[in-house]
Parts: sequence; C-alpha cells; structure tokens
Amino acid sequence: MTLPKIPLAGVIGHPIAHSKSPMLHGYWLKAYGIEGHYVPIDVAPENFETVLRNMHKMGFVGANVTIPHKERALEFADQVTDRATLIGAANTLIFHEDGKILADNTDGYGFIQNLRQFAPDWEPEAGPAVILGAGGAARAVVASLLDVGVPEILITNRTRVRAEQLRDDFGARLKVVEWNQAANVLEQATTVVNTTSLGMAGKPELKMSLDGLQPGTLVTDLVYNPLRTQFLETAAEKGCVTVDGLGMLLHQAAPGFERWFGPRPEVTDELRQVILG
Ligand code: NAP
Repeated sequence: MTLPKIPLAGVIGHPIAHSKSPMLHGYWLKAYGIEGHYVPIDVAPENFETVLRNMHKMGFVGANVTIPHKERALEFADQVTDRATLIGAANTLIFHEDGKILADNTDGYGFIQNLRQFAPDWEPEAGPAVILGAGGAARAVVASLLDVGVPEILITNRTRVRAEQLRDDFGARLKVVEWNQAANVLEQATTVVNTTSLGMAGKPELKMSLDGLQPGTLVTDLVYNPLRTQFLETAAEKGCVTVDGLGMLLHQAAPGFERWFGPRPEVTDELRQVILG
C-alpha cells in the first residue's frame, strides 16, 4: 500500500525570520484539517537556483518567494503567467511533477481583493488614482488598478526616474507628478494609495499635506505595521473610506494555498487577529 504524499510548501527569502507567511498558511492548514506543512526557507542568492531546481524532489508542491528572489524567480521558471510578466516579479511558484516551475504574481490580486472586501462600494472607474511611491509593490498596484478600469493614474515618487520607468512600462494612462507637487493633485483623486514604506514602524512618517483629499475618496496604505497609519487616520478624519494593508498580505496568499493544498481559503476576522497577535 502506498501512502499519500504529504504536500510541502514554504516561503523562500533572505532573511526570512520576519515572514508572516508560515503563520498564515499554518492557520489555514489547521483550519481545513489538511495534512501538509508550510515552512520558512532562508536561501542566499547564490544558492537560489540550485534550491529551486531541487524542491520538487523533496516533496514541495510550491513556494512563495520574497525579497531578494522575486525578480530572479522569473528567470528560472518554465512558465510565467501574464500578470507576473507584467509586474516583472513572482511571489508564488507551483512545482509540477516533472520538475517544471510555474511562476505567478498574486500581489495585485491581493491588493484588489482587500479593497473589494473592506470597501465594497468602491468604484475604480469613477476617477483618477494617485499612487505615492514607485518601488516593487507599486508595480503590482499599478497593474491591478489598470486592470480593474481606473481611467488614469497620477504617480509620484521621491526618485522620479522610478515613476518614469513605470509610465514607460505601463503606458499613457500613467502620468508622473513631481514628489513635491503631489499634495496638489490629491483633490482630483477618487483612489489614493500609499505604496511607500513611509509610516511603517521604524521609518519616517509621510509628511505630505493631505488637505486636498475629498470625502468619499478611497484611501489605502500598503503598510500594515502599524495597522492604522497616520496617513489612514488623517484620511479618515477627512471623510475618506480607508482600508489598511493587512488584507492585501492575506489575500495574496490565497491562490497559492489553493493550488498547493486544495481548498480556496477564506480571509476572516479571526485570521486577521491571529496574524496581528
Ligand atoms: P521598495 O521597492 O523598497 O520601495 C520603497 C518605496 O518607498 C519607494 O517608492 C521609495 O522611494 C519610497 N520611500 C522609502 N523611503 C522614503 C522616504 N524617506 N521618502 C520618500 N519615499 C521613500 O519597497 P516595496 O516592496 O515596494 O514595499 C513598499 C511598502 O509596501 C513597504 O512598507 C512594504 O512593507 C509594503 N508592502 C505591503 C504589502 C502588503 O501585502 N500589504 C505587500 C508589499 C509591500 P524611492 O524610490 O525614492 O527610494
């Protein structure tokens, strides 16, 4: 009698100790009564390819990838989804039986699902979006906002050239705004996203004036530590609809879990409390 294989998955990064993914997938494995494991895997860049090519032989059905491997994961994949190609990075890998690797990126999906869950009346097509920041996470935010029908994106970044790169990659629906002029375009926006690390614990606050924010505007922050950033608090005082960044983290994990372990997992209040706790 052959026993069924216990599926393994994990998150590959360097460092990795801070990752919330093991706790998150561990919660779902327990909640759905699945005999499987999800582990943190610390892999230095020089070993990344060797590790990746051998994981399926060790029983891994897939993995998340995080800093510094997200871009390089695309190089070693045999198949890359359109959204991962567009974003230029992977966060979710699926290992097929024959050793072939499929690379996907679910960050944009997680970003949109979080807004759908906590701001169900949000209408992305209602007006322009302002995006603060043009780093790695901003690429997924831009791709997903364009995908759901935001008519125009005004993007601003301290280092202007990174915003210009995004405009060159994503096209004419993006317009670059000088970082020191960004406060002046807020009043045009029906969606505002902070994708910078400003406001995160241990980082400086975002110092921009938010006086231009209009009541009813959807304002969201990718930062989730603290959960309620000063940016979100100020926006809420101005009558904006605010959504914190934790749900993005939780929702981006769901497609991977489903591919590796079976059930499509739910993002519940209890899960939020567990991850925050
Ligand atoms: P990243 O690639 O390093 O980009 C950092 C961004 O922050 C850049 O736009 C950078 O501007 C800006 N920035 C940093 N310090 C600044 C300062 N002092 N003044 C002005 N701008 C500054 O990082 P990332 O991967 O995009 O992540 C950005 C944030 O999103 C982090 O806080 C991360 O934890 C969070 N995040 C959350 C989720 C989630 O699931 N909720 C997912 C991904 C990321 P320059 O280009 O000028 O340096």
